[in-house]
Amino acid sequence: MTDSFFRPVSGMQMPRFAGIPTFMRLPHVPLDHPRIAEVDIGLIGLPFDSAVSNRPGPRHGPRAMRDASTMIRAEHPIHRIRPFEAANCADLGDVGPNPVDVMDTLDRFTAYYKDLKARGIRPLSAGGDHLCTLPVLRGIASDGPLGLMHFDSHTDLYPVYFGGKVLTHGNPFRQAVEEGLLDPKRMVQIGIRGTTYDFVDIDFAEANGIRIIRIEEFHARGVKDVMAEAREIVGQGPTYLSYDIDFIDPSVAPGTGTPEWGGPNAYQALQVVRECLGLNIVGADVVEVSPPFDPTGNTAYLGATVMFEILCLMVRALERPR
Ligand code: MN
Ligand code: MN
Repeated sequence: MTDSFFRPVSGMQMPRFAGIPTFMRLPHVPLDHPRIAEVDIGLIGLPFDSAVSNRPGPRHGPRAMRDASTMIRAEHPIHRIRPFEAANCADLGDVGPNPVDVMDTLDRFTAYYKDLKARGIRPLSAGGDHLCTLPVLRGIASDGPLGLMHFDSHTDLYPVYFGGKVLTHGNPFRQAVEEGLLDPKRMVQIGIRGTTYDFVDIDFAEANGIRIIRIEEFHARGVKDVMAEAREIVGQGPTYLSYDIDFIDPSVAPGTGTPEWGGPNAYQALQVVRECLGLNIVGADVVEVSPPFDPTGNTAYLGATVMFEILCLMVRALERPR
Protein backbone atom coordinates (compact mmCIF):
# COMPACT_ATOMS: atom_id res chain seq x y z
CA MET A 1 0.00 0.00 0.00
CA THR A 2 1.25 3.43 -0.87
CA ASP A 3 1.28 6.21 1.69
CA SER A 4 -0.97 9.23 1.41
CA PHE A 5 1.65 11.34 -0.38
CA PHE A 6 1.24 9.34 -3.60
CA ARG A 7 -2.57 9.38 -3.57
CA PRO A 8 -4.63 11.73 -5.74
CA VAL A 9 -6.21 14.67 -3.96
CA SER A 10 -9.60 13.35 -2.90
CA GLY A 11 -12.64 14.89 -4.54
CA MET A 12 -14.30 14.51 -1.15
CA GLN A 13 -11.82 16.98 0.36
CA MET A 14 -11.18 19.35 -2.56
CA PRO A 15 -13.76 19.38 -5.37
CA ARG A 16 -12.36 17.94 -8.56
CA PHE A 17 -12.73 21.21 -10.48
CA ALA A 18 -10.54 23.04 -7.96
CA GLY A 19 -6.80 23.21 -7.48
CA ILE A 20 -3.84 23.12 -9.88
CA PRO A 21 -4.37 20.28 -12.38
CA THR A 22 -1.88 17.43 -12.47
CA PHE A 23 -2.49 14.08 -14.18
CA MET A 24 -5.26 12.39 -12.16
CA ARG A 25 -4.70 14.84 -9.28
CA LEU A 26 -1.44 13.11 -8.38
CA PRO A 27 1.45 14.87 -6.63
CA HIS A 28 3.87 16.76 -8.88
CA VAL A 29 7.23 15.03 -8.43
CA PRO A 30 9.89 16.34 -10.85
CA LEU A 31 13.25 14.59 -11.08
CA ASP A 32 14.83 16.81 -8.40
CA HIS A 33 12.03 16.13 -5.88
CA PRO A 34 13.15 14.45 -2.62
CA ARG A 35 10.69 11.55 -3.11
CA ILE A 36 11.46 10.83 -6.78
CA ALA A 37 13.30 7.61 -5.85
CA GLU A 38 10.03 6.14 -4.54
CA VAL A 39 8.10 6.59 -7.80
CA ASP A 40 7.13 3.38 -9.65
CA ILE A 41 5.16 4.88 -12.54
CA GLY A 42 5.68 8.43 -13.82
CA LEU A 43 3.03 10.30 -15.80
CA ILE A 44 4.81 12.73 -18.11
CA GLY A 45 3.80 15.42 -20.58
CA LEU A 46 5.57 15.75 -23.94
CA PRO A 47 4.30 19.07 -25.34
CA PHE A 48 5.86 18.79 -28.78
CA ASP A 49 4.25 18.76 -32.24
CA SER A 50 6.90 20.13 -34.59
CA ALA A 51 7.08 16.76 -36.41
CA VAL A 52 3.44 16.98 -37.55
CA SER A 53 3.18 16.83 -41.33
CA ASN A 54 -0.24 18.48 -41.63
CA ARG A 55 -2.46 20.07 -38.94
CA PRO A 56 -0.57 20.90 -35.71
CA GLY A 57 -1.85 21.21 -32.15
CA PRO A 58 -0.83 18.25 -29.95
CA ARG A 59 1.78 20.41 -28.19
CA HIS A 60 -1.27 21.53 -26.20
CA GLY A 61 -2.32 17.94 -25.46
CA PRO A 62 -0.64 17.41 -22.06
CA ARG A 63 -2.29 20.46 -20.46
CA ALA A 64 -5.70 19.56 -21.84
CA MET A 65 -5.38 15.94 -20.67
CA ARG A 66 -4.18 17.01 -17.23
CA ASP A 67 -7.25 19.21 -16.88
CA ALA A 68 -9.65 16.54 -18.21
CA SER A 69 -8.04 13.86 -16.02
CA THR A 70 -9.34 15.57 -12.89
CA MET A 71 -12.68 13.90 -13.80
CA ILE A 72 -11.18 10.45 -13.20
CA ARG A 73 -11.74 8.65 -9.92
CA ALA A 74 -9.40 6.25 -8.17
CA GLU A 75 -10.76 2.75 -8.78
CA HIS A 76 -11.20 0.60 -11.89
CA PRO A 77 -14.63 -1.01 -11.55
CA ILE A 78 -14.03 -4.02 -13.84
CA HIS A 79 -10.43 -4.97 -13.03
CA ARG A 80 -11.00 -4.09 -9.35
CA ILE A 81 -7.61 -2.37 -9.43
CA ARG A 82 -6.89 0.65 -7.23
CA PRO A 83 -3.80 1.87 -9.07
CA PHE A 84 -2.90 4.64 -6.64
CA GLU A 85 -2.86 2.23 -3.71
CA ALA A 86 -0.99 -0.52 -5.53
CA ALA A 87 1.90 1.58 -6.87
CA ASN A 88 3.56 4.94 -6.31
CA CYS A 89 2.31 7.06 -9.21
CA ALA A 90 3.17 10.72 -9.72
CA ASP A 91 2.99 13.50 -12.31
CA LEU A 92 6.63 14.12 -13.18
CA GLY A 93 5.75 17.26 -15.17
CA ASP A 94 6.64 18.02 -18.78
CA VAL A 95 9.89 17.35 -20.58
CA GLY A 96 10.82 20.66 -22.17
CA PRO A 97 11.06 20.49 -25.98
CA ASN A 98 12.78 22.83 -28.40
CA PRO A 99 9.73 23.74 -30.50
CA VAL A 100 11.80 24.93 -33.47
CA ASP A 101 14.27 22.01 -33.63
CA VAL A 102 13.10 18.41 -34.02
CA MET A 103 16.49 16.73 -33.62
CA ASP A 104 17.40 18.77 -30.54
CA THR A 105 14.05 17.85 -28.99
CA LEU A 106 14.62 14.15 -29.69
CA ASP A 107 17.99 14.37 -27.92
CA ARG A 108 16.43 16.12 -24.91
CA PHE A 109 13.63 13.57 -24.65
CA THR A 110 15.97 10.60 -25.11
CA ALA A 111 18.26 11.81 -22.32
CA TYR A 112 15.26 12.22 -20.03
CA TYR A 113 13.94 8.70 -20.65
CA LYS A 114 17.40 7.16 -20.25
CA ASP A 115 17.49 8.82 -16.84
CA LEU A 116 14.04 7.44 -15.98
CA LYS A 117 15.07 3.95 -17.07
CA ALA A 118 18.18 4.15 -14.84
CA ARG A 119 15.95 5.16 -11.93
CA GLY A 120 13.59 2.23 -12.53
CA ILE A 121 10.57 4.47 -13.21
CA ARG A 122 8.13 3.23 -15.85
CA PRO A 123 6.77 6.02 -18.05
CA LEU A 124 3.19 6.72 -19.10
CA SER A 125 3.51 9.73 -21.40
CA ALA A 126 0.99 12.13 -22.89
CA GLY A 127 1.89 13.65 -26.27
CA GLY A 128 2.59 15.46 -28.26
CA ASP A 129 2.73 14.08 -31.77
CA HIS A 130 3.61 10.46 -32.50
CA LEU A 131 7.30 11.12 -33.12
CA CYS A 132 7.50 11.61 -29.33
CA THR A 133 7.36 7.81 -29.00
CA LEU A 134 10.75 7.40 -30.71
CA PRO A 135 12.89 9.09 -28.01
CA VAL A 136 10.93 7.25 -25.32
CA LEU A 137 11.89 3.94 -26.97
CA ARG A 138 15.49 5.12 -27.41
CA GLY A 139 15.55 5.75 -23.68
CA ILE A 140 13.90 2.60 -22.34
CA ALA A 141 14.72 -0.19 -24.85
CA SER A 142 18.33 -0.50 -23.67
CA ASP A 143 17.90 -4.15 -22.56
CA GLY A 144 16.86 -5.28 -26.04
CA PRO A 145 14.00 -4.76 -28.48
CA LEU A 146 10.50 -4.41 -27.06
CA GLY A 147 7.19 -5.72 -28.35
CA LEU A 148 4.66 -3.13 -29.49
CA MET A 149 0.90 -2.96 -29.00
CA HIS A 150 -0.03 -0.10 -31.32
CA PHE A 151 -3.49 1.45 -31.72
CA ASP A 152 -3.71 3.93 -34.59
CA SER A 153 -5.44 4.61 -37.88
CA HIS A 154 -1.97 4.91 -39.47
CA THR A 155 1.01 2.56 -39.55
CA ASP A 156 3.56 5.37 -39.02
CA LEU A 157 5.97 3.27 -41.11
CA TYR A 158 6.59 5.74 -43.97
CA PRO A 159 10.25 6.06 -44.95
CA VAL A 160 10.51 9.35 -46.80
CA TYR A 161 8.90 12.76 -46.43
CA PHE A 162 9.45 15.92 -48.47
CA GLY A 163 11.96 14.27 -50.75
CA GLY A 164 14.25 12.83 -48.12
CA LYS A 165 14.55 10.73 -45.00
CA VAL A 166 13.31 13.12 -42.32
CA LEU A 167 11.75 12.12 -39.03
CA THR A 168 8.06 13.00 -38.74
CA HIS A 169 5.06 11.69 -36.85
CA GLY A 170 4.56 9.41 -39.87
CA ASN A 171 7.61 7.21 -39.33
CA PRO A 172 8.57 6.66 -35.67
CA PHE A 173 7.96 2.91 -35.81
CA ARG A 174 9.93 2.30 -38.99
CA GLN A 175 12.81 4.21 -37.43
CA ALA A 176 12.45 2.27 -34.16
CA VAL A 177 12.58 -1.07 -36.00
CA GLU A 178 15.64 0.04 -37.99
CA GLU A 179 17.36 1.11 -34.75
CA GLY A 180 16.61 -2.27 -33.13
CA LEU A 181 14.35 -0.74 -30.46
CA LEU A 182 11.33 -2.86 -31.43
CA ASP A 183 11.07 -6.53 -32.40
CA PRO A 184 8.95 -6.49 -35.58
CA LYS A 185 7.82 -10.08 -34.96
CA ARG A 186 6.27 -8.87 -31.67
CA MET A 187 4.54 -5.83 -33.21
CA VAL A 188 0.84 -5.47 -33.91
CA GLN A 189 -0.87 -2.41 -35.36
CA ILE A 190 -4.63 -2.23 -34.91
CA GLY A 191 -7.20 0.07 -36.54
CA ILE A 192 -5.31 0.97 -39.72
CA ARG A 193 -7.46 2.78 -42.30
CA GLY A 194 -7.82 5.86 -44.46
CA THR A 195 -6.37 6.94 -47.76
CA THR A 196 -2.61 6.55 -48.21
CA TYR A 197 0.22 8.05 -50.24
CA ASP A 198 1.33 4.63 -51.47
CA PHE A 199 1.87 1.13 -50.05
CA VAL A 200 5.49 1.32 -48.94
CA ASP A 201 4.44 1.16 -45.28
CA ILE A 202 2.51 -2.07 -45.86
CA ASP A 203 5.43 -3.51 -47.84
CA PHE A 204 7.78 -2.74 -44.93
CA ALA A 205 5.39 -4.42 -42.48
CA GLU A 206 5.09 -7.56 -44.62
CA ALA A 207 8.84 -7.79 -45.22
CA ASN A 208 9.55 -7.57 -41.47
CA GLY A 209 6.69 -9.67 -40.10
CA ILE A 210 4.72 -6.81 -38.49
CA ARG A 211 1.05 -7.78 -38.10
CA ILE A 212 -1.41 -5.13 -39.33
CA ILE A 213 -5.05 -5.54 -38.33
CA ARG A 214 -7.00 -3.19 -40.56
CA ILE A 215 -10.24 -1.65 -39.38
CA GLU A 216 -12.30 -3.87 -41.68
CA GLU A 217 -10.94 -6.96 -39.93
CA PHE A 218 -11.35 -5.30 -36.52
CA HIS A 219 -15.06 -4.66 -37.06
CA ALA A 220 -15.68 -8.07 -38.66
CA ARG A 221 -14.02 -10.07 -35.86
CA GLY A 222 -14.79 -7.89 -32.85
CA VAL A 223 -12.66 -6.68 -29.94
CA LYS A 224 -12.29 -9.98 -28.04
CA ASP A 225 -11.13 -12.04 -31.00
CA VAL A 226 -8.77 -9.42 -32.37
CA MET A 227 -7.22 -8.74 -28.99
CA ALA A 228 -6.70 -12.45 -28.28
CA GLU A 229 -4.53 -12.59 -31.40
CA ALA A 230 -2.79 -9.31 -30.48
CA ARG A 231 -1.87 -10.67 -27.03
CA GLU A 232 -0.39 -13.77 -28.66
CA ILE A 233 1.77 -11.64 -30.95
CA VAL A 234 3.37 -9.51 -28.23
CA GLY A 235 3.53 -12.46 -25.82
CA GLN A 236 4.86 -12.20 -22.29
CA GLY A 237 8.03 -10.27 -23.09
CA PRO A 238 8.46 -6.58 -22.27
CA THR A 239 6.01 -4.60 -24.35
CA TYR A 240 5.37 -0.94 -25.12
CA LEU A 241 1.80 0.26 -25.66
CA SER A 242 1.32 3.26 -27.96
CA TYR A 243 -2.13 4.75 -28.39
CA ASP A 244 -2.71 7.34 -31.10
CA ILE A 245 -6.04 9.03 -30.36
CA ASP A 246 -6.87 8.98 -34.09
CA PHE A 247 -7.44 5.23 -33.62
CA ILE A 248 -10.90 6.30 -32.41
CA ASP A 249 -13.58 7.44 -34.85
CA PRO A 250 -13.53 11.24 -35.34
CA SER A 251 -17.26 11.42 -34.57
CA VAL A 252 -16.17 10.65 -30.99
CA ALA A 253 -12.63 12.04 -30.93
CA PRO A 254 -12.42 14.91 -33.44
CA GLY A 255 -9.55 16.63 -31.63
CA THR A 256 -6.66 15.28 -33.67
CA GLY A 257 -4.70 16.40 -36.71
CA THR A 258 -5.25 13.46 -39.07
CA PRO A 259 -8.71 11.98 -38.40
CA GLU A 260 -9.87 8.94 -40.41
CA TRP A 261 -13.48 7.78 -40.61
CA GLY A 262 -14.83 4.36 -39.69
CA GLY A 263 -12.96 3.80 -36.45
CA PRO A 264 -13.90 2.27 -33.08
CA ASN A 265 -16.49 3.91 -30.85
CA ALA A 266 -15.64 5.14 -27.35
CA TYR A 267 -16.60 1.82 -25.73
CA GLN A 268 -14.39 -0.20 -28.08
CA ALA A 269 -11.63 2.37 -27.57
CA LEU A 270 -11.51 1.46 -23.87
CA GLN A 271 -12.24 -2.27 -24.32
CA VAL A 272 -9.12 -2.86 -26.42
CA VAL A 273 -6.98 -1.55 -23.57
CA ARG A 274 -8.78 -3.66 -20.97
CA GLU A 275 -8.03 -6.73 -23.09
CA CYS A 276 -4.31 -6.04 -22.57
CA LEU A 277 -4.47 -6.84 -18.84
CA GLY A 278 -1.75 -9.33 -17.94
CA LEU A 279 0.74 -8.17 -20.57
CA ASN A 280 4.18 -7.04 -19.46
CA ILE A 281 3.67 -3.34 -20.24
CA VAL A 282 6.92 -1.49 -19.42
CA GLY A 283 5.90 1.88 -20.85
CA ALA A 284 3.09 3.52 -22.78
CA ASP A 285 1.80 6.71 -24.30
CA VAL A 286 -1.33 8.46 -25.54
CA VAL A 287 -0.49 10.82 -28.39
CA GLU A 288 -1.93 13.17 -31.03
CA VAL A 289 -4.64 14.79 -28.87
CA SER A 290 -4.97 18.23 -30.47
CA PRO A 291 -6.99 20.70 -28.37
CA PRO A 292 -7.38 23.31 -31.19
CA PHE A 293 -9.61 20.73 -32.98
CA ASP A 294 -11.37 19.68 -29.76
CA PRO A 295 -13.90 22.41 -28.96
CA THR A 296 -15.90 20.27 -26.48
CA GLY A 297 -12.83 18.88 -24.71
CA ASN A 298 -14.22 15.36 -25.21
CA THR A 299 -11.14 14.12 -27.06
CA ALA A 300 -8.87 15.19 -24.21
CA TYR A 301 -11.23 13.54 -21.72
CA LEU A 302 -11.24 10.31 -23.70
CA GLY A 303 -7.45 10.50 -23.96
CA ALA A 304 -7.14 10.93 -20.20
CA THR A 305 -9.54 8.03 -19.66
CA VAL A 306 -7.41 5.82 -21.93
CA MET A 307 -4.41 6.87 -19.81
CA PHE A 308 -6.20 5.62 -16.68
CA GLU A 309 -7.00 2.29 -18.40
CA ILE A 310 -3.33 1.94 -19.39
CA LEU A 311 -2.15 2.91 -15.90
CA CYS A 312 -4.11 -0.04 -14.47
CA LEU A 313 -2.30 -2.39 -16.89
CA MET A 314 1.05 -0.97 -15.85
CA VAL A 315 0.26 -1.37 -12.16
CA ARG A 316 -0.66 -5.02 -12.77
CA ALA A 317 2.55 -5.52 -14.77
CA LEU A 318 4.59 -4.22 -11.81
CA GLU A 319 3.23 -7.08 -9.70
CA ARG A 320 5.01 -9.60 -11.95
CA PRO A 321 8.40 -10.96 -10.87
CA ARG A 322 10.99 -8.59 -12.35
MN1 MN B 1 0.31 7.71 -35.12
MN1 MN C 1 -2.53 8.24 -36.55
